[in-house]
Amino acid sequence: MNSRVRELKETVCALHAELVRYDLVAWTAGNVSGRVPGEDLFVIKPSGVSYDDLTPESIVVCDLDGNLVEGDYAPSSDTAAHAYVYRAMPHVGGVVHTHSTYASAWAARGEAIPCVLTAMADEFGGEIPVGPFALIGGDDIGKGIVATLEGHRSPAVLMQNHGVFSIGASAKAAVKAAVMCEDVARTVHISRQLGTPLPIAQADIDSLYDRYQNVYGQRSSR
Ligand SMILES: [Zn+2]
Repeated sequence: MNSRVRELKETVCALHAELVRYDLVAWTAGNVSGRVPGEDLFVIKPSGVSYDDLTPESIVVCDLDGNLVEGDYAPSSDTAAHAYVYRAMPHVGGVVHTHSTYASAWAARGEAIPCVLTAMADEFGGEIPVGPFALIGGDDIGKGIVATLEGHRSPAVLMQNHGVFSIGASAKAAVKAAVMCEDVARTVHISRQLGTPLPIAQADIDSLYDRYQNVYGQRSSR
């Protein structure tokens, strides 16, 4: 395997530590993948390996049908969903899946998280939508993710009764979306407990989103 794959394995391995750092995962329930630039391949967490034991060498390589191409372990049980997203969405360079607590609590109720925070307008451009109930195995989860996120600004979807899938131009961007999704899920939940969160006008959401996506920050770091 070439140096690009080796580098991506290191990146994706390190990003799993971020899932732990931001308290998005329990046991081994969460995974990050990254598309190999210029090739019909992606790297993903091996199934059932604890985050402490993950090494770049243990990260496995799959083709876009989810078949194992290189690695000593079986790929994550969510590999089919990741593979479906890479096949259907060529602009996606990274996919993350978690059962993070607050976001999954919204998913369990099948309710989209309304856009009531400027940080949500910035990052998600509106509500965080709910995808269909789908059983693991086959393409149902992948189909549900793509059907929900296509034509939507949000890089994250709450799969009903399940958890979060997030996408990004890179694996790091997808991890950021997963972290932000849990953050706003928590805040909007608390706001709901205190009363009724105030909506943000669509024109203001559009303006915030446009500014954040196009003006804010160091472009090279995103
Ligand atoms: Zn899951």
